[in-house]
Amino acid sequence: SELPSDKILENSRRQVSEAVFSYVNPKKTKAPKVIHVSQEMASELGITQEETKTEFFKEIVTGNRVYPNTKPFAMCYGGHQFGNWAGQLGDGRAINLFEVEHQNKNWKIQLKGAGETPYSRTADGLAVLRSSIREYLCSEAMFYLGIPTTRALSLSLSGDQVLRDVLYNGNPAYEKGAIVSRISPSFLRFGNFEIFTARKDVKNLKVLTDYTIKHHFSHLGNPSKETYINFFAAVSERTLKMIIHWQRVGFVHGVMNTDNMSILGLTIDYGPYGWLEGFDFGWTPNTTDRQNKRYRYGNQPNIGLWNLYQLANALYPIIEEVEPLEAILNQYKIDFEKQSLQMMKSKLGLFVTDEDDLKLIQDLEDNLQLVETDMTIFFRNLSNFSDDKTGLKLIENAFYDLESIAMDVKNRWNSWFKNYANRLAIERVSSEERKEKMNAVNPKYVLRNYMAQLAIDTADKGDYTLIDELFQLLKKPYTEQPKNEKWFAKRPEWARNKVGCSM
Ligand code: AMP
Ligand code: MG
Ligand code: MG
Repeated sequence: SELPSDKILENSRRQVSEAVFSYVNPKKTKAPKVIHVSQEMASELGITQEETKTEFFKEIVTGNRVYPNTKPFAMCYGGHQFGNWAGQLGDGRAINLFEVEHQNKNWKIQLKGAGETPYSRTADGLAVLRSSIREYLCSEAMFYLGIPTTRALSLSLSGDQVLRDVLYNGNPAYEKGAIVSRISPSFLRFGNFEIFTARKDVKNLKVLTDYTIKHHFSHLGNPSKETYINFFAAVSERTLKMIIHWQRVGFVHGVMNTDNMSILGLTIDYGPYGWLEGFDFGWTPNTTDRQNKRYRYGNQPNIGLWNLYQLANALYPIIEEVEPLEAILNQYKIDFEKQSLQMMKSKLGLFVTDEDDLKLIQDLEDNLQLVETDMTIFFRNLSNFSDDKTGLKLIENAFYDLESIAMDVKNRWNSWFKNYANRLAIERVSSEERKEKMNAVNPKYVLRNYMAQLAIDTADKGDYTLIDELFQLLKKPYTEQPKNEKWFAKRPEWARNKVGCSM
């Protein structure tokens, strides 16, 4: 009521000019209820367990109260979606609340699903329980896997009903609305830079780049063309590093549009992501990408590079030199080959250098795709390898259809195990040491698509125990947890071809 009348329009959809963000207040919800809190994330923010149980906490993380003396806002960004420039996008269902400084770290708090913003376009700015559980569980799981990611603080029900198309019957259906509070040192994306260049707004491009360097890449020094080039190199390195991690654990992002690429190289925007079950370079969890498979598992490193080309174009107006940008993009390719080999060697427990390693790895990748073979189970079991006679027995558990495995497939595996045994013979570590090292890079527990689905199905009925069970499980993804052996299992048959949805 104190707002001037022009401010009442703050949330309305519009094209904004020369703006990095727009002030916007979260929508009040009908019956907010916090259903899970990442206590580890809370304590990183200096919030005690007691405090997370208060009415105040609930109201803040569900957007029902604005923290005193803060002004929530939505950011403006553009992006290339599925290879095409999509114009202005922006935080359509994310609202930034405030920053927290704690133990020399700076965190931004953002609500996802707290109502419309000027960037909501034709959508409602809301999120459903299904997609919120997927983001909540997966972002924390990625953190504990040691993969750069945005994080989650809380998962809440809004108490409102949200209208979504349910894919399997085509009818509109209401679902429970939900809100995730997510946390990151920065939510800036490639698209934040692209939008300025698209608008030929070099002034603000420079302001944003200087801000980003000052707050997140301060080691690069004061603004100059050279600093901007080094900034691009640093973003390129971080992006590659993140994607190599994805490849290592079999995470497929699903929507690697440039608006979903963090400038800090963090995994961001958990929508139609998925985890490899059967190892398959061609697999994508995104049902809207089943034709082109642009964002398939095996293509993620290429897409990272493609996206960096877009960022290079976006930064060009403040660098004005093509060669250094091209050199960095070329370096990405060189570094990818090197780091990818290194990563695969670590999964196999190979530490010394051998000229045939690349061949051994390529043969393995071929073998893994002969018949449906579970990636996580295969690599985890491989750490128990002792000799080529028992190799096949060791990985039987990873085959989805053990009975129908043809003789020639078995032969190919046996011959690969023979090569692997010979290769291990030139290593210097003991088998116990190798096992320990392999188990530190080959997770035992990942958030398989059906696991998230089970948590969703039970939560939909009001039972949140499975959310907590999976949350606790995934805090120690590399550790044997005998009580949780049931989660070290192949996808059950009912879950075949079922993947979650982004909305
Ligand atoms: P995504 O594919 O999730 O990265 O979304 C692309 C764009 O659509 C982003 O600008 C989102 O903020 C926006 N968006 C996605 N879902 C919604 C929604 N339910 N309401 C408003 N905007 C949305
Ligand atoms: Mg997005
Ligand atoms: Mg999304």
